[in-house]
Amino acid sequence: MYYEILKNKMSHRYRVLNNISEIIKITTNEINAYPLTLEIRPANSCNANCEFCICKLNNKNEMLDSRIFAKLIDEIIESGQIIAIVFSGGGEPSLHPYLTDAIIRLTEVGVEVGVITNGIYMSEELLKAYMKCSWIRISINSFNKEDYQKRTRTTNNTYNTVYQDISGLVSLRKKCNNNLVIGISAVIEEQNWQYRFLSQYILLAAELGIDMVTYKRNRTPGLFYRPLDNWIIDALIKLQEECKIYSNITSFIDGEEIKAKREYCNCNLVENNIISFIDARGDIYPCLYFAENQRNVLGNINDSGYRNCIYKSYGERKNIAKYCIHCKMCKNYNMNVLINKCNNSVINIDNCDPHWKFL
Ligand code: SF4
Ligand code: SF4
Repeated sequence: MYYEILKNKMSHRYRVLNNISEIIKITTNEINAYPLTLEIRPANSCNANCEFCICKLNNKNEMLDSRIFAKLIDEIIESGQIIAIVFSGGGEPSLHPYLTDAIIRLTEVGVEVGVITNGIYMSEELLKAYMKCSWIRISINSFNKEDYQKRTRTTNNTYNTVYQDISGLVSLRKKCNNNLVIGISAVIEEQNWQYRFLSQYILLAAELGIDMVTYKRNRTPGLFYRPLDNWIIDALIKLQEECKIYSNITSFIDGEEIKAKREYCNCNLVENNIISFIDARGDIYPCLYFAENQRNVLGNINDSGYRNCIYKSYGERKNIAKYCIHCKMCKNYNMNVLINKCNNSVINIDNCDPHWKFL
């Protein structure tokens, strides 16, 4: 449905250029306030038990207290500064009873929302709330019932439930005639690193009538991946063109590892709180990578609210930003490079990415 728009959008990193005047404003203030994009993991419990899940290591079946969650949404709305929110896991965000209200309240005031879910639970209210989002990504991780059950360690009908949930989303989108971009994602490992597996996700997306496929690496520390063969990449690009399904296969090849020779030695995104991250305990982290390792908690929203934590953590964020030279993985590497290149001047580019607010 949105193939042409998604196909012509530029890589994620260029989203900073759409936001650069705002970023310059933030970086020239001594202490800034709220980030532009905030990722919230409202629950770290999950209704699946995937064999490759790295969140299980820290999963203690916690959830943001609903009252605290509601207060956080109040704060976000009152601030008027946060332009995009992602609700995601470790853990399954749809299990949080306040998620529906949170999405409705945020989108009503123009904050864009994206959701990453496993799609196992989708009530009628949640389905309607999803219609207000900019995008939703369902981590399906398989293209058939048997493999799904094995990889997610769920009951034998769960794949059908997820399939029907996605079909429900597609029908409602059609009925509402709205702009929700629907995608599926799959964790790719050594055993499904071949064309015959990778291509199935594109075919499944076409069958479901959705828009995109996101391939993700198994991020268990220490796993090594050889690059994909060129013929596989070419064949997948051809298939996605034929099926009119967008995929991240070209950026997936680049991987997320920071290049040996860095082009910056200070992480602008973290120092200036341009992105931020809150988990199910209410802990605030500077970015996804610190959250995954449960390192460098910048504060906790249960104690004194989000804003106070942001102010108090300025010094610590500055220190973390200085040591970013030690960060081994970072999907934000290229964004930092671009921010530095802008060097306090706005670059005008025609970036037609519909999701440019999600840094
Ligand atoms: S759906 Fe996500 S959070 Fe849940 S077990 Fe699977 S990988 Fe982990
Ligand atoms: S991983 Fe390091 S470089 Fe990347 S956003 Fe976090 S602090 Fe910055």
